[in-house]
Amino acid sequence: MKVTKSEFIISAVRPEQYPADGLPEVALAGRSNVGKSSLINRMINRKNLARTSSTPGKTQQLNYYLINDELYFVDFPGYGFAKVSKSLRQAFGEMIETYLTRREPLKLVLQMVDLRHPPSKDDLMMHEWLKHYNLPLCVVGTKADKIPRTRRDKHIKVIKQELGIGPGDLFIPFSSEEGLGREELWEVISRYTGV
Ligand code: GDP
Repeated sequence: MKVTKSEFIISAVRPEQYPADGLPEVALAGRSNVGKSSLINRMINRKNLARTSSTPGKTQQLNYYLINDELYFVDFPGYGFAKVSKSLRQAFGEMIETYLTRREPLKLVLQMVDLRHPPSKDDLMMHEWLKHYNLPLCVVGTKADKIPRTRRDKHIKVIKQELGIGPGDLFIPFSSEEGLGREELWEVISRYTGV
């Protein structure tokens, strides 16, 4: 995929603010600091469009990025619930639930997990939750460059095992630093969005 244009559209706090043009959407979920912003920037080859290090308090915003005028990346708030209050957790849950169940243009969900560590409790919970919506789901293992090449397969195996990812499920090791996984992820995105 050759990205020639990418722009930030809106931090939507209410569904009425979501774009109405019907272009396909790819949602990105992951714990704060997992490398979500870096992945978006790498996918579109920009240094800084997606803001890195999102604020944990901002649990009610969906950040929309328009790519090549033909699809949206929809960045969920970073989860990592230890830091936020119960009411904010609940607000996050309700917003995401509404989005996942009612958003017709949503074609694919990406869940990012840090390849260096076994999935956290939050990762496991989020994975179960996402699976139950029966939307196409692809798990992306971030920061692959931080693991020596010889040990990557072992890390991938642990994550797949703990999340219950089988041969028929989508999993892509990724490095925003080196570009590993970029082409493969664009292929998956193209397949599910039709762009
Ligand atoms: P976000 O909170 O999920 O949006 O995470 P960020 O994209 O802000 O990344 C968190 C930190 O991890 C930053 O210091 C990034 O530079 C670093 N990081 C993210 N992706 C990678 C990667 O693929 N490789 C390496 N080495 N560092 C990464």
